[in-house]
Amino acid sequence: MAPSPIDPANEDTLTRAADILRSGGLVAFPTETVYGLGADARNDKAIARVFAAKDRPSFNPLIVHVPDLAAAGALGEVNDHAVALAERYWPGPLSFVLPRRADSGLSLLVSAGLDTVALRAPAHPLAQDLLTRFGGPIAAPSANRAGEVSPTTAAHVLESLGDAPDLIVDGGACMVGLESTVVDLCGDRPAILRHGAVTREQLERMLGSVDDASVPESGQAPRSPGQIAKHYAPSLPLRINATDPGPDEAFIAFGEPGGKNAAVIRSLSPSGNVIEAAARLFALLRELDRPEFTAIVVAPVPETGIGRAVNDRLRRAAAAHED
Ligand code: AMP
Ligand code: MG
Repeated sequence: MAPSPIDPANEDTLTRAADILRSGGLVAFPTETVYGLGADARNDKAIARVFAAKDRPSFNPLIVHVPDLAAAGALGEVNDHAVALAERYWPGPLSFVLPRRADSGLSLLVSAGLDTVALRAPAHPLAQDLLTRFGGPIAAPSANRAGEVSPTTAAHVLESLGDAPDLIVDGGACMVGLESTVVDLCGDRPAILRHGAVTREQLERMLGSVDDASVPESGQAPRSPGQIAKHYAPSLPLRINATDPGPDEAFIAFGEPGGKNAAVIRSLSPSGNVIEAAARLFALLRELDRPEFTAIVVAPVPETGIGRAVNDRLRRAAAAHED
């Protein structure tokens, strides 16, 4: 058997991780949102390997990770909105889509041919450490095969990608557990392309009104490839906003576990906390995605704060089985 690519996060592992990135290899590493599959964002071949490892459609661009706003400014045209948001939320779970600088040096494939680029400064100390050691921008989509639920532990990455990453840096479970909020700052009005830990209300407090473009208007082409409805899906069908699981179904409660008839019962958050629910969602979906059940049934989650992002992921996971 090939040795496992998982190594504990320590000095040696991080030095090796930076070396692997420099030589065009792939390193999976933890961020505060989910695990990313990292590659040198300036290296076309390395980026092509990311798309191949994930089996990701090449029209779906990647988020580029940077240590801070100064580094972001070398890659994208930073505007007032970006400065204000970065001061408040970077490093953190918020990605900006900005016009791409002509002299960015980024691989064209990173942006999937768009003249924009998505940028984020992650808060996780291991991600920051890796960015410092590597000394350049790291493209890092979630470290899972396309369409699957994002990984929140090193074991999830191994389960999903096998030995496609040259190294998986094990930094334990991710704190936030959902992908970053993506906000498009290219137009006159900022627009949310993906809901996440930084909420619409928080963005509006800083920017005034913000459009919700996370679901394309009917008849309109998606503004972001990630708007496509089917995403983040387990193999089993999902029934959401339901509290009536059958005896062959797995039940995910919110708050006190009810659903007595279910084959198995878990709770996103026994105390009814949406932040805890976000952090546990993907791990629970993976745990219960087993052939002995006929479906996963999920109780209603409040549409407040990060709860909106939880519901967004649940709707997409449910939509994957609608046809
Ligand atoms: P992931 O890399 O898995 O975290 O997903 C990145 C998300 O950001 C996807 O929903 C992409 O479609 C979106 N995205 C990345 N770059 C851009 C861009 N230049 N314009 C619009 N959306 C983008
Ligand atoms: Mg993803």
